[in-house]
Amino acid sequence: MTTAKIIDGKAFSETLVARVGVQASLLAAKIGRPPALAVVLVGEDPASAVYVRNKIERTTTAGMRSIEHRLADTTSQADLLELIDTLNSDEGVDGILVQLPLPPQINEEAVINAITPDKDVDGFHVVNAGRLATGQDALVPCTPFGCLLLLRDFLGSLSGLNAVVVGRSNIVGKPMAQLLLKESCTVTIAHSRTRDLQAVCAAADILVAAVGRPEMITGDFVKPGATVIDVGINRVPAPERGEGKFRLTGMCILKVPPQRPGQSRRCRAGLGQ
Ligand code: NAP
Repeated sequence: MTTAKIIDGKAFSETLVARVGVQASLLAAKIGRPPALAVVLVGEDPASAVYVRNKIERTTTAGMRSIEHRLADTTSQADLLELIDTLNSDEGVDGILVQLPLPPQINEEAVINAITPDKDVDGFHVVNAGRLATGQDALVPCTPFGCLLLLRDFLGSLSGLNAVVVGRSNIVGKPMAQLLLKESCTVTIAHSRTRDLQAVCAAADILVAAVGRPEMITGDFVKPGATVIDVGINRVPAPERGEGKFRLTGMCILKVPPQRPGQSRRCRAGLGQ
C-alpha cells in the first residue's frame, strides 16, 4: 500500500540557503564585495518584525550583507520614496525589500513601482510581473518560487499535470499560477467566487492553497495521490495552551484515511523565507 509522504519544507530551505551561499560567494569574488540586500521596515507590526528578522538572518547566513532601515509608522510616503530613490542609485545595494503591509498613509503600489525592477527582489514591480507573465526572465516573488522548487524537487517534471491554485493575490496566487504554466501544467486559479471549490480542487494533481482562511481545505478536496502545498500561515486562538494563547496553522487539514492511499499532506515550513 502506498502511504502519504510529507514534503519537508524546512529541510529543503536549509539546503537552499547553503546553495544560495555558494552562489553569493562566487558573486562576491566577482564584484569584490558580498552581495547586499536592503530591507525596509515601516512601523511596528509584530508579524512584519518576525518576517524581517528571518530575512536578515537568512541573508547573513548565506554570506550576504544585510542593510536595515527601520522607519517610524508615521513616516510619510514622500520620505519613504526618497529612501527608495537613494537605495536605487546606491551601487553598494543589489536588492531592495520593502516589508508589506505599509501604514495607511502610504500607497503600496507607488512604493513597489518606485523600486528599480532589477533590484526588486520581491518581484512585485509591474515590470517583473509582466516579464513573468510573458515568459521572460524575471525576479519572481519568493513564496510561489519556493513552492515551485519544492514541487520540482518532489515530483521532477510537472509537465502536463493538472494544477489548481486557490487564491489570486499578486503576491502568491497569480505568480504561482504563472510559474506552473511555465512548467507546462494545466492551471486553474480558484478564488472566493469559484463555484464548487471542492470539485475543482479534487481534479488537481497539484493543489496549492494560498487562501487566508485557516484549515478550510480538508481531505475531501484532495484526490488520492495528489501533491498539496499549503502556503498558509494563520494565527488562530489556542485556548488549550492557556488563556489568550495562539498557534500557527495552515489552510489544509489533511488526515489521510486508509481509503485514500498515496495522498500527500500539508507542508508549510520554510516557504518564502
Ligand atoms: P490574500 O491577498 O488575502 O488572498 C487570499 C485569496 O484567497 C484571495 O484571492 C481570495 O479570493 C481567496 N479566498 C478567500 N476566501 C476564499 C474561499 N472561501 N474560497 C476560495 N478562495 C478564497 O492572501 P495572500 O497574500 O495571497 O496570502 C495567502 C496566505 O498565504 C495567507 O495565509 C498568508 O499568511 C500566507 N502567506 C504565506 C507566505 C509564506 O512565506 N509562507 C507568504 C505570503 C503569504 P478573492 O480574490 O476572490 O477575494
